[in-house]
This record gives sequence, C-alpha cells and structure tokens, in this order.
Amino acid sequence: MITLSLTRFRLPAAMRQRLAIVLFSGSAALAPILLRADAPAQGARWAHITTALFCTSDDVDRLLTNPADRQAALAYFAPLRLAKIYLEDARGDPAAVAALREIATDLKARGLEVSGAVVPAGEHGPLCYNDPKDMAMLEGRVRVLAQVFDEIIVDDWLFTTCTCAKCLAGRGSDSWANYRSRLVAEQSKQHLIAAAKQVNPRVQVIIKYPNWYEGHRQNGYDVARQTPQFDGVSVGIETRQPTTQDQHIPTYSGYVFQKWIGGNAGPKWRSAWLDNYDMQGADNDYVAQVWQAVLARAPEIIFWCAGVLHPPAPSASNYPHLVEMMPDFDRLAGMLDGPARGIPIHLPLGSTGEFNVFGYLGMIGLPMAPQTTFPADPKAAIFTQHSLRDPKLAAELLARVRAGREVFLTWTLLQKLRESELGRALNVIGEGGTVASSTFRVREHFWHSQSVDAPRSFGFPRIETSTWPYVREVALVREDGDFGVLLKTPYLEGQVDVLNLPDNSYDLLRLPESVLNAIRRCFFEELGVRLVGPGGVALYPFGGRQYVLYNMNNGPAKVALRLPAVTPARVWKERMHDKSLTVADVEEGKGPWARRETEVALTLLPFEIAVIEAR
Ligand SMILES: [Zn+2]
Repeated sequence: MITLSLTRFRLPAAMRQRLAIVLFSGSAALAPILLRADAPAQGARWAHITTALFCTSDDVDRLLTNPADRQAALAYFAPLRLAKIYLEDARGDPAAVAALREIATDLKARGLEVSGAVVPAGEHGPLCYNDPKDMAMLEGRVRVLAQVFDEIIVDDWLFTTCTCAKCLAGRGSDSWANYRSRLVAEQSKQHLIAAAKQVNPRVQVIIKYPNWYEGHRQNGYDVARQTPQFDGVSVGIETRQPTTQDQHIPTYSGYVFQKWIGGNAGPKWRSAWLDNYDMQGADNDYVAQVWQAVLARAPEIIFWCAGVLHPPAPSASNYPHLVEMMPDFDRLAGMLDGPARGIPIHLPLGSTGEFNVFGYLGMIGLPMAPQTTFPADPKAAIFTQHSLRDPKLAAELLARVRAGREVFLTWTLLQKLRESELGRALNVIGEGGTVASSTFRVREHFWHSQSVDAPRSFGFPRIETSTWPYVREVALVREDGDFGVLLKTPYLEGQVDVLNLPDNSYDLLRLPESVLNAIRRCFFEELGVRLVGPGGVALYPFGGRQYVLYNMNNGPAKVALRLPAVTPARVWKERMHDKSLTVADVEEGKGPWARRETEVALTLLPFEIAVIEAR
C-alpha cells in the first residue's frame, strides 16, 4: 500500500495487475454498497450531461468478458446512466479481436456507444519513442483496436521520461522539452494515428491530456502541437485529495484545465476525465471533481475506471455517494444559463509558472477565464509566470497600462520583468528571504486602514517598499516593517497591481477574510460582482444574472455576493436547494468614496453548491 501511495500517477494495467494482490488482499471488508431501489431502465440517459465509463484491460477481463458478469456489471453501473463505454486492450494480440467484437456488439445492442482505449505504456512504464520494440508494441495494440472500434482514446501515458543513449543523442544540445515534444508528436503520428487509420480509415483518435500540465512539454505532451494532430481531445481533472495526494492540485484547477485546454480545442473538445483512484474515505473530494466538469460544461464526463468503482477495490466505497449525487449534477447542468464569465488569466499553451496558481485563485472566489493569447482588451487581467512563454510580454503589458487598463501580476512575474519598464513600477528597498506574521494591515479607502489579526502566522517572500509612493493595499505587519502582500500603484494611464503569494500556496485560502476581500475588490469593475467571505469557496458567474457558489471547505461558509446597487432592486432566489438569502442594500466606503452595493448573503454547508439568480 505504501508503494501505491508514493506512486505519482496511477499505474498502467500491466503494472497494476502485479499490485492487485497487495491492493485487494490488504483491504478490509467493504461496507455493503447500497444502490437505489428505483434503478433506471436500460438505456436511460441524463437530460443535460453525458456520462461514460472507462474499462481497463483488467476490467474487461473481470467484468465484461463473461456474459453473466457483464449483465451484473451493467446493472451495477446503471445508476450512472452511461452513454458510452471505453474498452482498453493491453495485449495487442490479433486473437483478441473476436472477443472484443463480441463484447462491443452486445454493448451496442443495449444502446451504448463503444470506443477502444490504449494505454501507451509497457511493463517498464512509459515508452521510449526511439525504441523500435516499444513502437511495434504501440502499433500492435492500436491495430487490434482499429479493427473493432471507430474511435480510440489514448490514455495519458503518451509521455516519455526515457534517458537512454539514443534519446540523449537525439536530444543533442536542445532541451528535453523541445526534443521530447517533437519526438512524441512525430512517433505518435506514425505508430499511433497512421497505424490505426491504415486498418480503419474511419477511426478517430482522441488524445487525453494529463493534469500535470507543469511537466507536459518536458515529458513529450505539447497541446499546441498535439491538439491539431489528433481528431479529438479529452482533458484530465483527477485532482483527487488536493492536500494529501502527492500531486497536490487544488480542486478548482480541474475547472481551469477544461476551460484552458478544452476551450482551446473548440469542437475537438470531447470530454473531461476524472477518477477516484485511491480515494476511499474522500467522497466529497471525489464528487468535487464531477462538479468542476459539470460547471465547465464538458461535453462528456468519463469515469475512470470500472475497476476502482466496483468491489473489491477499496475505493469502490466512493460509488454510493456518486450515485446519490448524479441527479444533482444533471439538474445543475440544466440550470446553467448564459456564457461562463471570469477574469481573463493569460495562460499560453505549453506554459508553466507558479504551480496551479489559477486553481488557488479560483478557490478564493476569483472566477478564472483562461486565455491562450494576450488579453489586450479587458479592463482587468491576471498575469503570472506562465505569461513569460509569450515573447512579446513586456511590450504588451506596457501597452495595456498606456491604454488605461489594469495589469494584475504575481510578484514572481514582476521579478522576472525587472529589466522592462514595468519592472520600475515599485520602489522596492528590500527583498529576498521570507517574513512571517499573523498581523495584516488592510487599506479600506484612501487614508483609512484596518489592522487584522489572524489566528495563526503566515509566511511570505519579503517585499519591503519605501514609504512613498504608498502602494501597500495589504501588508504583513512586523515590528520592523510593513511588508507587501497586495501592492497597488497607478502607472502611466493605468494601474499595476502586484500579488505576493504566500510561501505555502494553500495558505491563500486561509488568509483572513478582509485580506481576501481586498484581493477580490481588484476585479469588481471587470466582473460586476465580488465574493465576500472566507477562502475555499469558488464563484462561477454565468450570463448577467446567475452566480454559482461552491463551498470546498470541510465546514460551513458564510458568504455574500456584492453587486453595484441597481434601481429598482432585483428579486433574488437560490435555485438548487431553495436556500434562504439575506438581501440588503449596504454602504461601502466612507465620505466621498462611499457607494451603495447590494449584498446577497447565505451560509453554504460543506461541499454544498448554490445557484443564485437575480430575477
Ligand atoms: Zn530512449
């Protein structure tokens, strides 16, 4: 079990088989899995979402090969109202064609769509794309699949970590990122896509991107190159337990991945893909992934995989809660009204930067709208180190400020822009090292600021600025100085905002409410709405009048939406659970800076979703 928890990603079928004994013999007796008595009729579908199930080679053998087992498995999974099943075949043995055909024909007769799936990995893990044996194995597998299926999905093992002599020689003086992304694209064109289409010219080959975007190009994934190359795109969520699983991906990143990589694929975006791998005991984190897929309006949601949702896998304990939530997912999908809105965040394809910063920003209630090209026009936009993939960045940022717009930068990006004009926006007199304190000073309006004591200390990279110009919207207070957390300064015709992220990125969610409210205020004009309250609650605005809130805290969260007051007042309603709302007209700021705002307040239970609408 220790081996498994230290494994960064789930293992390919061949390696899992070897570990199966450890997995299953080590599990305690499973609680009985109770399913609804009102199981849906065969062929039943959801009205607003489309669901699919992935079956690994092991799953196919264990659950689908024998007709009686197949009948039982389909009855077990009936509450998911599946539209499609993906069947992996890891053998690449032409003798397997007949058995796969028999299963596919039966599933189709039951009204299901059926696709093939390949996991491009071997007994030794990821492939070497310079090894003819590995390439022959990959070809062999897709040739078998293409005889049976008109669609093949490629699991996210289409990467390489190989450092053999051939790979080193091939790389030469280039970077691993440039070399491997070119190598995998070239070799998969020949041994995957062309091989499949030779056997079956109708076949569509779908690439599934892993959620570890920060290592994509280094290991051979390249969205800019591969999305045009493949017939379709599936995007991984797989955020699992965000704070303890070894990838540490904030749940909201699952939403961003769909909007970023899926959104960029346009009509090629086929699905979101999520799993409950090793997630026993974490039902809420599991269904939180499904909510991200639904809120991103993924065309299809793939559940990976039958084997981990079905006994005797310990993580099958997640299944009853998933089943219970399915009608709610469908209901929310049907309610979403109007285009998703958010703050433009510049994420060029293939970029890397502060790890999952967009996920953490989303989890303090800043809705993210990823843009792969430079956001020149919106009034406010967020820039992180990811923007450095854009070679014209410094000039484009300056042009934004000259045009009277705002740039909201991370401190780490500003440090990299030191040599540019914007690098002179702040008078930094001390930096380097970290500072820690539990006291913050938050500017409320012009001269007035408020001191806020947090119940614990927070650590930040040290930014010390001169007294004038006064730029510290939020400062961390120590005996020897006020240190920058959120810095705001007019520059040229526009505005430069700089956010210093805490040492522990997750601490962003735990900052005092008034600190978070000050960060959220930076985008009020752009969005026309802001969240007030603790971190860990995400906001998803749709159209002009709909606001979805999702509490990802283990405790209740008292939150409010703030909007500019309008006359006549709107009528507000919560549609998901008909929750009661407290609506008030409030005054924000004092004296000449005072303005009237409408506040719509409610308390969200742990992992509760609310749909607030103005009528
Ligand atoms: Zn190699």
